Amino acid sequence: MLIFAALMYSEKAIVMSGIRPTGFLHLGNYFGAIRNYVRMQEAYECYFMVADLHSLTTHPDTKELKANVHRVLAENIASGLDPEKAAFYCQSHIYETSELYLYLNMVAYLGELEKTTTFKEKARQQPDNVNAGLLTYPVLQTADIILHRAKYVPVGKDQEQHLEMARNFVNRFNHRYGEVFPEPYAFNYSAELVKVPSLDGTGKMSKSENQSATIYLADSDDQIRKKVMKAKTDEGPKTPGSIMPEYIRNLFTLMALVSEPGVSAQFEADFNACTIRYGDMKKKLAADMVRFVGPIREKVEAILADETYLKQVMERGAEKARASARETMRIVREAIGLHYY
Ligand code: ADP
Repeated sequence: MLIFAALMYSEKAIVMSGIRPTGFLHLGNYFGAIRNYVRMQEAYECYFMVADLHSLTTHPDTKELKANVHRVLAENIASGLDPEKAAFYCQSHIYETSELYLYLNMVAYLGELEKTTTFKEKARQQPDNVNAGLLTYPVLQTADIILHRAKYVPVGKDQEQHLEMARNFVNRFNHRYGEVFPEPYAFNYSAELVKVPSLDGTGKMSKSENQSATIYLADSDDQIRKKVMKAKTDEGPKTPGSIMPEYIRNLFTLMALVSEPGVSAQFEADFNACTIRYGDMKKKLAADMVRFVGPIREKVEAILADETYLKQVMERGAEKARASARETMRIVREAIGLHYY
């Protein structure tokens, strides 16, 4: 697995990532993606977008789209994304993306697209709408990234396969038309990509699945406490050295993310000594989640109320993203040979 633990190569490496406006953001989005955005914007040339076109593959009904786009903007900004430092824009405002997507479709093969895990999952979930956009999702995602010739892509673990595909498309394009694009890599500041598990011991936190086991940045203190206290546990280990079940391991993973250093190690020592009280552990986890989410939730409400500000953010972001996109597309058309006079 190739993850860059430190960005050593260039002072101004280019960074790109996006989040779909398909619902409320959650701790998975925060720790998998946004936390890295906030650090990376300090040192790198960053492009972050609301992936509204991607959402059409699974959410064709656009009644909620505007509210969801505003929410993703506000939740990112409330979490620390600074639109003055990074280009923060809407995917559909950059038409060059669609052009690059078309060219990249010629270097993406049906067989590999059909084998993609997320495609197979989504096709299972929506058998009546297995559209071509769903199939070519990794191609559009590659276009989003390389439109800015980005090298680093802060994402969660679920995106690892898509980044591998992006490198394949880039290498094929470069082989055919010349070295236009750098290979993009999934990025996280810690040693590994993050997967924030859901509270019920199955799968990951998600905007649209596992909702009662997902902590959203918009959840009230009470909702957070209720969800955490309902998390699956058992009677606890009976013999020292017992293997930790996955649903318990997940609670430790979550604790390591939101609690002060040392807290999860203390509970782990209790687990190993067979003295752990899961009720106490969940109370501590809930309190730390409330402390973490509360201030973000309050800022979101204030940002959402200011539509003029959100419009300015989108316009300013699109301007910056367009400048970079235009330059890339000039090089791309030239490299492909689409110049006849
Ligand atoms: P969702 O799966 O909730 O709809 P998106 O597909 O919009 O989220 O993903 C936005 C970003 O959040 C991506 O970088 C993705 O890897 C990350 N992400 C989503 N869920 C998780 C999770 N449970 N753990 C870690 N990262 C996640």
